[in-house]
Amino acid sequence: MKTKICAHCQVEATTLYRIQTSAGGKQWVFVCEACCIKAKPRPGYRYGGTWQGYRH
Ligand SMILES: [Zn+2]
Repeated sequence: MKTKICAHCQVEATTLYRIQTSAGGKQWVFVCEACCIKAKPRPGYRYGGTWQGYRH
């Protein structure tokens, strides 16, 4: 089981979402589910896939 750290709240998670926001300077970042939901209504939001630690 692998984990990554959420780029927004620094929580360790096994499932992260690859997203882009205008606040992130158009960079792709991995965030946890809660941060992904919070980022959705924001301008510049793009979803680029899901990362799951148990599949690697
Ligand atoms: Zn988070």
